[in-house]
Amino acid sequence: MTIQTAVAAYLLFLQLVLLSTIYAFAPTPSKNIIIASCVSSKTISSAQSQMLPIRTVSKTMVRSVSSHIPASGEAVTKLAQQLIRIPSITPDDNGCQNVIRQRLEPLGFQCETMQYQDVTNLWCLRQSPLHSAPTVAYLGHTDVVPVGPPSSWTLPPFGGQIHDQNMLLYGRGAVDMKGGIASFVVGLERFLQDHDSLPYSLAVLLTSDEEGDAKYGTRVVFEELQKRGITIDMAIIGEPSSLHQVGDVVKVGRRGSLGGTLSIIGVQGHVAYSHLARNPIHESLGALKDLVDERWDDGTTDFPPTSFQISNIQSGTGALNVIPGFKTVQFNFRYSPAVTDTELKRRVHGILDKHGLQYTLEWGETTVPFESAPGGELVEQAMASVSDVMGYSSRPCTSGGTSDGRFVAATFPHAQIVELGHRNETIHKIDECVSLKDLKDLSLIYKRLLDRLRIVEERKQDGQEYTDHHVSVAALP
Ligand SMILES: [Zn+2]
Repeated sequence: MTIQTAVAAYLLFLQLVLLSTIYAFAPTPSKNIIIASCVSSKTISSAQSQMLPIRTVSKTMVRSVSSHIPASGEAVTKLAQQLIRIPSITPDDNGCQNVIRQRLEPLGFQCETMQYQDVTNLWCLRQSPLHSAPTVAYLGHTDVVPVGPPSSWTLPPFGGQIHDQNMLLYGRGAVDMKGGIASFVVGLERFLQDHDSLPYSLAVLLTSDEEGDAKYGTRVVFEELQKRGITIDMAIIGEPSSLHQVGDVVKVGRRGSLGGTLSIIGVQGHVAYSHLARNPIHESLGALKDLVDERWDDGTTDFPPTSFQISNIQSGTGALNVIPGFKTVQFNFRYSPAVTDTELKRRVHGILDKHGLQYTLEWGETTVPFESAPGGELVEQAMASVSDVMGYSSRPCTSGGTSDGRFVAATFPHAQIVELGHRNETIHKIDECVSLKDLKDLSLIYKRLLDRLRIVEERKQDGQEYTDHHVSVAALP
C-alpha cells in the first residue's frame, strides 16, 4: 500500500464515521400513512370530497379519536358502534342479535331465536291485522369476517371509534353489515313512530352464518318458515351493494355459479415412442377450445351472457421426455337465468364426448341465479326512495358474488328481492369504515322505502292496480 492509498483510505473511514454519527442523532423523518377512504376519489362530488377526503396524516394523528357525534344521525351511529364493539367472527353472533331484539320488541315485533348448531338466527315478525297483507322482510347478518392483524388497523377493529380527521366510523362490520343493520333499525323506528298500523307485515331476519358456510343460517330458517306456512313477498337485503354513493346501485339479482373438475385420461409413455402412449394434453386441446368458444346463451335483459372460464390446468410428470398419463382442468360458469345448470352440464358432456375423450368430470355445488320477480313494486320503489332522499338516481344491477338472496329466490320463487346497503369499497379489508353521513342517509332511504311501500299497498287495497312506479312524492310527508 502506498502512502497516498493509506491516506485516502483513512479519509474515507473518517467520512463514514461522521455520516453514521449524523444519521444516528438526526430526528426520524415523519412517516406518513394513508387513511383508507370509503369513497372512490374519481367519482365523488366536490361536496363529498370536502367531507371525505383521502387524507395523508402524520403518525401522531393516527390514534386521534373523536368523541363528538353530530346530533343528526346520532342514533344510527351509536347503534352501529354498539354492534361493532361486539366481536362476532362468523359464525359467532356473540350477543349482537339480542341488541336488535331489544330494539324491535317494543315496536310490536314477536322475536324468536333459532339456534342451529353453532349458528344463531333471529326471526322477528310484526303481523299486519289485514288478512291478505304481504310480508316485507329485511335480511341481514351479524357475523363478520376475521380482522387480520389488529395492529394494521388505523383504529381498533372492534373499538367502534370515529376518526376525528375524517369522521369515519372504523371497525369490522362497519359496512358489512352492522352499519347497514343500524341504518335499517333506526329508519324503522322513525317510520313506525308515524305509522303504527300498516298494510303489510314486517319481518326482520338476522343470521350469524352469512360469511361462513351459510349452511345453518337463512336457508334453514326459511325451511322452518315454510313448514309454518309463512311466505316472504318482498325481501330487502341489506348487504353493501352501493358503489360510489349510497344507493347508486341496487342489486336486483345475481348470476348462478357452477364449477367442475375435469380429468382427462391418457396413457403415459416415452416421448420417443409416442405411438405407444396417448397424450391427454394433445387430445383435449380441441375440446377445451370448443368449450371456450361456445356461446352458452345470449343473456337476458338484466343479465350478461353466461361466461365459462378455465381457472386451472395441471399435467406432466416433471420429466421432459415423458408423455403424462392424465391432465386436470378446473373451470367455472357464471350463468344467467337463460340457461339451467342441468343444460350446461349436458352440453359440456356433449362437447367432451364429441371429441372422444376418456375422462371423469366432478361437478361442484350449484348456486342458482336469481332475479327479483319482474313487474313488482319493490325495485322501483327502492330506486325512487334513493332519488327522494339523495337527489340522484339509482341503477339496477346483477353483478357481484352470491348473497342470501339466492335462498329467498329458491324458497319463495314469487318474491321480489332488492339488495340495498352501504358502499362496498372497504368490505372485508383492513380499515373497513363507514361515513356517519352514509349511516344517516341510508337510514332515511330505508324509512322512505317503507313509507312508499305503505302507500302502494294502501292503494292496492283500495282496489287500484299497481301499474306505475311514480307514486307521487308529494303524497309523502
Ligand atoms: Zn355481508
